[in-house]
Amino acid sequence: MISQFELIGDDKVGVLPKQVNQLEMCREIAAQKDMQENDSSFMLVDLDKIIERFNLWKRELPMIEPFYAVKCNTDVVLIRVLASLGCGFDCASREEIDIVMETGVSADRLIYANPCKTRSFIVHALERDVRMMTFDNAEELIKIGKLHPNAEMILRIAVSDPTATCPLNLKFGADPVLAAPQLLKLAHEEGVNVVGISFHVGSGCNDATAYRTALSHAKNLCEIGEGYGFKMDIIDMGGGFPGAEHAHNPFEKIAETIRDALDEFFPETDKRLIAEPGRFFAAEPFSLVANIIHATEVPASKITKDPKDSAEHGYMYYINEGVYGSFNCILFDHAHPIGGPLFDVDRNEKYMSTIWGPTCDSLDLVEDKKLMVKMEIGEWMYYPDMGAYTLAAATTFNGFAKPVPMYVMSEEMWANIKDSNHI
Ligand SMILES: *Cc1c(COP(=O)(O)O)cnc(C)c1O
Repeated sequence: MISQFELIGDDKVGVLPKQVNQLEMCREIAAQKDMQENDSSFMLVDLDKIIERFNLWKRELPMIEPFYAVKCNTDVVLIRVLASLGCGFDCASREEIDIVMETGVSADRLIYANPCKTRSFIVHALERDVRMMTFDNAEELIKIGKLHPNAEMILRIAVSDPTATCPLNLKFGADPVLAAPQLLKLAHEEGVNVVGISFHVGSGCNDATAYRTALSHAKNLCEIGEGYGFKMDIIDMGGGFPGAEHAHNPFEKIAETIRDALDEFFPETDKRLIAEPGRFFAAEPFSLVANIIHATEVPASKITKDPKDSAEHGYMYYINEGVYGSFNCILFDHAHPIGGPLFDVDRNEKYMSTIWGPTCDSLDLVEDKKLMVKMEIGEWMYYPDMGAYTLAAATTFNGFAKPVPMYVMSEEMWANIKDSNHI
């Protein structure tokens, strides 16, 4: 039970006497909503989890300062909790810079990590004294040279895990062997200050060796940059770190690969090591609970497309969250969310099922050919790990509201962060 409310900024946060798991908490809230005949979807945000993820980062990669990639989820409470822990922020637009700075974070904890920036946003960065920013092409260097005399430029190179969920190097990153040395030369000629090297191996990285390859290029390019008189004291390892514990490529393994590569290429370095994790922080703290607004019995063959199943029962469910809302991750982030009944049910037999979103579009498909117990209209579905690339791009298409965030935190964690001197 949410026994008491405390304010973090303007947002109400339920503070609990002890840590309760997210599933239990969601059940509690759904049961209360049932009593109020309120069937709207909601997102439980477990703020303790954000702190646990931050501590996990500090344990595995203590030498690397995280700069949370704000585009992953711009929830202000998430940002405020990370800010209070001393986290830095990766912003890619004027708005993201403003959202973060409004929490009280100073400009030196921001990196403007978009290699192709809007000119007016560069001027805005100058006004707010945001200096660290990335580039990967000659035209951007010239733009920055004209618009932001104090910029501290970080050269982004393209080193890719080709098996990453979302490869990014088609769009960004200079070739580390051919183009990058030329860009360092040009920066020297144009009088633009370069301070380091960055890369992003791809969001949802599957192959940790990509970080090692990137660090070996970074080492060479630092030497080339130093030859032009640049200080080259920042190595920015981008994002790509997995968001949930059960990911098949565990964070601990990636961290180990990175620690080994740092020992190899940058032993006892006094360089500032940073990274831009997005989903690493945002995925796990958010659990989605959606209501089954309709259920229809169909021949299972309609779902399996196999005439042999025509005598079996199948079910099509319609829930009040779909791909136009936070399940946009299915389309944009190539995610495969797997949900289940929120409450334990004493029905055992499973049927071929499809779970649709609420809009009038057949693209709005959440799960297909799912074997699930029979569910009733009005019951709830639970989807864990729904914080990364979900709410950030959700719309209200067709008049369906986004899930309402409900924040919870244990008394112990609240006591730990409420007097933070970081914001
Ligand atoms: C999206 C992005 C990130 C975050 O990526 P994750 O895979 O979510 O960690 C970091 N840096 C840049 C430049 C990005 O575009």
